[in-house]
Amino acid sequence: MKNDIKHILYHLNDWVKPEKPDKSFVNMLDDVHIYNDPFGVVLVIGAWNYPLQLLLVPVAAAIAAGNCVVLKPSEIAGNCAKFIAETIPKYLDNDCYPVVCGGPSETADLLNQRFDYIFYTGSTRVGKIVHAAANKNLTPTTLELGGKSPCYIDKSVELRTAVKRILWGKLINCGQTCIAPDYILCSKEMEQKFIAEAREVLKEWYGDNIQSSPDLSRVINQNNFQRLLGLMKSGRVAVGGKYDASERFIEPTILVDVKPDDPIMEEEIFGPILPIYTVENAYDAIKFINAREKPLVLYVFSNSSKLIKEFKNNTTSGGFCSNETIMHVGVDTLPFGGVGMSGMGSYHGKYGFDTFTHKKSCLGKNLAMLGEKMASARYPPYSDRKSSL
Ligand code: NAD
Repeated sequence: MKNDIKHILYHLNDWVKPEKPDKSFVNMLDDVHIYNDPFGVVLVIGAWNYPLQLLLVPVAAAIAAGNCVVLKPSEIAGNCAKFIAETIPKYLDNDCYPVVCGGPSETADLLNQRFDYIFYTGSTRVGKIVHAAANKNLTPTTLELGGKSPCYIDKSVELRTAVKRILWGKLINCGQTCIAPDYILCSKEMEQKFIAEAREVLKEWYGDNIQSSPDLSRVINQNNFQRLLGLMKSGRVAVGGKYDASERFIEPTILVDVKPDDPIMEEEIFGPILPIYTVENAYDAIKFINAREKPLVLYVFSNSSKLIKEFKNNTTSGGFCSNETIMHVGVDTLPFGGVGMSGMGSYHGKYGFDTFTHKKSCLGKNLAMLGEKMASARYPPYSDRKSSL
């Protein structure tokens, strides 16, 4: 988050400058430029899973672009919401940057107001509510949503590295990351190898008693804990499977023998559970991905650049990562966002500044006679000679 803000501060003087596009002969003498206009008053609604970052990074971009901002932190990360509500007024003008706390009903009240831009991070279900509310006033909206991000593993990979990167992406923040690899697609042979490696990696990271490891976080609340236990009923547990409701602890769990219409393969998991769905080959995997909603990110692990390209060219997703998980989110110069049901619009770095900026097209002429003479053909009365100019 600090790096995002530093990046904005470093580049802002350049970003705010009017852009000078190419001009045609007709506009040779004119001042043609794009003026970066703030939208006005922006509403930023955050999610709970990275409660500071997901609120303050878009807020920083909106402020950089010159907007006033209403901040709505998630009520589910209540301590962070309280911290934001107490801290922001100490540093920012409360009239321009008010914080509004609360849950669905307070957010619904906010959405009844008219804003100049709405930036929402959260579930696809609530994203539809936000979009419908924005529509009433034709308010432009960015929706940073969720969904199921697939991860294909090809047999050519160096498996230990792949397993580490995939499990890290899955288990960071206990799987409660919008871009966590949601499920694995691979061959039956790779499934067995993946499971054997995963057992070793989990032991290396968390020891014999995973529950006592300080390096694995917990599920946010009982609602999500119970929802995840429900999802664990799909397929068969190959690794893990233990849980403890008193701590909202769920052991990193790998499920096999899942069916495409099992709840775990239909709903975003958002927890430390990794189902493996076996396919015959890469083409089956692409078919499987394309038969579902467009994901927020697609992960492909392969040593073959041809195969990686095949996935990139033949699928649509918000982002695409080969031989890595999650890390694309930290590249300041890449836009971050979804497509289709995983979102619309993007931010981070210059893309955040542009999101909160109306690109005003400006044409400036002078009133000198030469220009007026050149332009006179447009005035009536019209004649054949004028129209041939
Ligand atoms: P959520 O949609 O439940 O809540 C997000 C925000 O919407 C909160 O501020 C909440 O108060 C508000 N809200 C909830 N119900 C509402 C309603 N009925 N009407 C109006 N506002 C309402 O999402 P969440 O549980 O906080 O976050 C998890 C989801 O967010 C996952 O799907 C995850 O993938 C997604 N997510 C996406 C990104 C991204 O950058 N694309 C990042 C993090 C999380």
